[in-house]
Amino acid sequence: MDFRLTEEQEALRESVRDFAREVVAPVIAEHYEKHTFPYEVVRQMGKMGLFGLPFPEEHGGMGGDYFALCLVLEELARVDSSVAITLEAAVSLGAMPIFRFGTAEQKARWLPKLVSGEALAGFGLTEPGTGSDAGGTQTRAVLDGDEWVINGSKAFITNSGTDITALVTVTAVTGTRPDGSKELSTIIVPSGTPGFTVAPGYSKVGWNASDTHELTFDDCRVPAANLLGERGRGFAQFLRILDEGRIAIAALAVGLAQGCVDESLKYAKERQAFGQPIGNYQAIQFKIADMELKAHTARLAYYDAAARMLAGEPFKRQAAIAKLHASTIAVDNAREATQVHGGYGFMNEYPVARFWRDSKILEIGEGTSEVQRMIIARDLGL
Ligand SMILES: Cc1cc2nc3c(=O)[nH]c(=O)nc-3n(C[C@H](O)[C@H](O)[C@H](O)COP(=O)(O)OP(=O)(O)OC[C@H]3O[C@@H](n4cnc5c(N)ncnc54)[C@H](O)[C@@H]3O)c2cc1C
Repeated sequence: MDFRLTEEQEALRESVRDFAREVVAPVIAEHYEKHTFPYEVVRQMGKMGLFGLPFPEEHGGMGGDYFALCLVLEELARVDSSVAITLEAAVSLGAMPIFRFGTAEQKARWLPKLVSGEALAGFGLTEPGTGSDAGGTQTRAVLDGDEWVINGSKAFITNSGTDITALVTVTAVTGTRPDGSKELSTIIVPSGTPGFTVAPGYSKVGWNASDTHELTFDDCRVPAANLLGERGRGFAQFLRILDEGRIAIAALAVGLAQGCVDESLKYAKERQAFGQPIGNYQAIQFKIADMELKAHTARLAYYDAAARMLAGEPFKRQAAIAKLHASTIAVDNAREATQVHGGYGFMNEYPVARFWRDSKILEIGEGTSEVQRMIIARDLGL
């Protein structure tokens, strides 16, 4: 058993760490404040091959694996979570369903531009009336000749409304099974399809430089060939995508938690109180030690889940544990880092203010903490 990184993994981590510090850090506060999407950062991430990390070279990818993506997400989130979630959603929610379930034609049409970062894709599962209970999907798709006609709406869909968004995969009810339950399928809806409307961006608490929209489908027609994978496999497809995605969100949460340590350490050495740096006081030392402890143990949890996934072993429980633990400690660390910064921690110009605002969604997106506990308990046989 060895959790140390290979030379290649270390080199990838170093290069993304430099990129985050030199390219992301100087511009992100302004994007965050103005709620603008960092196209220039995304373009550079595309050139670095980050959108293609876990995809084979035949599709234009880098031939790496999902763990490499997680390492990159951790380093990005150490500086900024909007950029990290843009990459996470683009790869694990946007391109991955097409890679995993798409036909040869769908892969040839969409993957090259998605894995190069030239285009983004959204993953439309959540609806205004149902999130955790995704089986409660109301959006319907009816086959009319050789076209699907889609009606319904989706809520909170990441990367769905940028200038470079190429498509959204949409889960919809396509029929009723013999036992009366809903038949769910996934359909590719290209941006700009008549009847597909993207609402203006939400006013969010955090992730302000990322792109999130409500989507509506009003007699929206797409070719029957836009069905992703087999009809009726929608439920199984999104469960697989979310299991993997949880490892990626855990990595992102660990990055935020580690960023809190970085910023607190720096500040504790500079800030003077009662004649000495606050880092000399044990109360502050213990806070930072606890923050490091939490980031470290959460990192081991996502490394373990990723290792199991890459070995082809069951990883559902470990992915849920990693996501639950990492998101919990990310919120803890953001709260404590703000405390270490005193009043300045409440000022938006300090990165810890962004970390605090960005941490809470980690306990909600891609399955709430309650849902993670349900998954763990179910996997334990309850
Ligand atoms: C910024 C942002 C980006 C997002 N991006 C995407 C995206 O790209 N694609 C996408 O499809 N979705 C996306 N989401 C949606 C996100 O995944 C959902 O918000 C999340 O899954 C929770 O669903 P909900 O909001 O409907 O909450 P609900 O499911 O209504 O839950 C409300 C509360 O009830 C609890 N609860 C629900 N059921 C149970 C139960 N059985 N037992 C105990 N407690 C329960 C929940 O844990 C939660 O605390 C995004 C959300 C946000 C805010």
